[in-house]
Amino acid sequence: MDTLIARAVTDLKNARNAVALTGAGISIESGIPPFRGKGGLWERFDPMEIAHIDAFVADPELVWRVLVKELKEVIDRALPNDGHKGLERLGRMGILKTVITQNVDGLHQAAGSTDVIEFHGTFAWQRCTECETRVPTRDVDASVLPPRCSCGGILRPDAVLFGEMIPPEALWRSQEVAARCDVMLVIGTSAVVQPAASMPIIARQSGARVIEINPEPTPLTGAVSSYLIRGGAGEVMNRIMAALEHPG
Ligand code: NAD
Ligand code: ZN
Repeated sequence: MDTLIARAVTDLKNARNAVALTGAGISIESGIPPFRGKGGLWERFDPMEIAHIDAFVADPELVWRVLVKELKEVIDRALPNDGHKGLERLGRMGILKTVITQNVDGLHQAAGSTDVIEFHGTFAWQRCTECETRVPTRDVDASVLPPRCSCGGILRPDAVLFGEMIPPEALWRSQEVAARCDVMLVIGTSAVVQPAASMPIIARQSGARVIEINPEPTPLTGAVSSYLIRGGAGEVMNRIMAALEHPG
């Protein structure tokens, strides 16, 4: 067995309280493009500009047309992959307690993970900018943009846009969970969007092992993470889970 996989298996076997922090990379194998790196959706515009609250307020029709509608079509079709499923299995084994995710695609819940902190909210729901009513994204008719609530207000994703605050409860709980864990798996995040990127720092500072799974190094690599297992989330989780579930 690969020595880093063996190391992760040992660390996870010894863990009493493992948590995961996931980013867009874990959902790439489900067909959802990430913000950075190759992937159609974002090569045409800067997510920091278009997925910004100021852009939405200035021109909701534009943001719906170039961002929300396309994301809705992609997410409506997406299914959990071996990365999400591996974390669910780790949860069922009693090793992994909580998933902190920066993703808004709902795929951890779809895989069956029960304790999921949605750090950046969710794309599964839209909410009315006037009366706060929530509507499942699947049920939103996007043939006329921007879609509206029955009260006439404009609908927006129930997700955190750039320039907006992290839901305080998600932030508090994530900080608490990060400070208490003994192993943190950091999967598929470029670790440049704050404050999510500081959760591994909190974990490390509190004495946890921080295991990165990513095809590329990140700013955490060699500084905050204990080691990096280079590879795709699905493939690496499959190897770890095979060794954990069928030892010897
Ligand atoms: P990111 O787009 O900045 O980085 C993606 C990371 O995934 C990179 O480090 C890349 O090397 C890695 N990666 C590529 N292929 C991978 C694979 N097969 N397995 C594992 N890792 C792989 O993502 P981010 O750090 O999450 O930051 C982007 C922000 O955008 C997030 O805060 C999130 O809210 C949002 N976002 C969410 C989704 C989603 O819900 N699926 C998609 C795009 C963006
Ligand atoms: Zn309304």
